[in-house]
Amino acid sequence: MADSDDAPRVGELTPPERTLMGPGPSDVNPRVLRAMSTPLVGHLDPSFVEIMDEVQELLRYTFRTDNEWTIPVSGTGSASMETAIGNLVEPGDTMLVPTNGYFGGRMASMARRAGGEVVEVDAPWGEPLDPADVEAALAEHEPDVFGFVHAETSTGVRQPDVPALTEAAHDHGALVIADTVTSLGGVELRVDEWDIDVAYSGPQKCLSCPPGASPLTLSDEAMEKVLSREEDPRSWYLDLSLLEGYWGDERAYHHTAPITNVYAIREALRLVAEEGIEERWDRHERVAGALKAGVEAMGLEMNAPDEYWLPSLNAVRVPEGVDDGEVCAELLERYDLEIAGGLGDLSGEIFRIGCMGHSARPENVLFVVTALGDVLESMGADVDAEAGVAAARRHLR
Ligand SMILES: *Cc1c(COP(=O)(O)O)cnc(C)c1O
Repeated sequence: MADSDDAPRVGELTPPERTLMGPGPSDVNPRVLRAMSTPLVGHLDPSFVEIMDEVQELLRYTFRTDNEWTIPVSGTGSASMETAIGNLVEPGDTMLVPTNGYFGGRMASMARRAGGEVVEVDAPWGEPLDPADVEAALAEHEPDVFGFVHAETSTGVRQPDVPALTEAAHDHGALVIADTVTSLGGVELRVDEWDIDVAYSGPQKCLSCPPGASPLTLSDEAMEKVLSREEDPRSWYLDLSLLEGYWGDERAYHHTAPITNVYAIREALRLVAEEGIEERWDRHERVAGALKAGVEAMGLEMNAPDEYWLPSLNAVRVPEGVDDGEVCAELLERYDLEIAGGLGDLSGEIFRIGCMGHSARPENVLFVVTALGDVLESMGADVDAEAGVAAARRHLR
């Protein structure tokens, strides 16, 4: 047995106080942090069952759906994503996925692991899908499932005209899975009105909640496909037919819910309901609009044109003569401010500046425009930092 003198000794937990304006996590409202210090009850305690009901009701409100099958999945956004794909895609099924960003690629990996065959609809990184291309791919491949990313965090692109995509998919008999990780609670999303069959999301983006319990909603029709599978899904943990026992009427043990994360998402969703979902979408557009006005007036260029600009994730072109990684490191060092560089095809070409949930506040935007202008100027980039701040302030009046 190890002597207790061998026990590692580490100091107090004192991470730096950052302002989080990257692709997630975003800043957490103090009310959510306080909810997380609430004492635990058992995951089958009658009081917890009530909390589960409340979370489901609040999720329905936020997704704009009446779907009975609306739950927080234990795990990060990827767990909710894999629950959607791993249950809906059966071995031998075909799934149509997009190529216009990082997360379409992840959809493809998950569909293959589920035993599905993957076919693609192409669009370059930084552009949305063209409904005509989706229609053509549906006609060519007749897939069982079509997945698209509503808010592509890797490119700052919002997929416009979602109903055109879902209508085309349904005409060809495909069920639609939407990645709404960076849109839920931040930009307009209407699951029922837009006829989305399955939507998954994450808590640490526009809901401003620590990662750990991730929203998922399925229509009755999608759930019917899941419950009539011939073969069990490959994951036991994420098998919706088993999770039904816990989140459905039965309330039987499947796995221990992450109690604290459920408290957290309940409080984060309560904040959404207090603000009003449409008011919240408007706030993101207004506050991120000031960020956009600020960087443009400074002399920088947005990567996405206005028609598919994504307020919750602003992709800004890196100006001549500076290195994106060095700029991000300097912002962290000098200002305790987190933003991110580009990924994949846009690596080195864009900054990714989040404007999500509790981070989507005027003071944060003025801070990020000021700090970014200062750092870029000090690195010799051709920007007018003061003009940027003035434009952001004007936009917020
Ligand atoms: C963050 C993100 C995910 C994955 O969520 P994790 O919480 O990192 O597992 C999936 N899709 C999109 C669009 C995202 O931005």
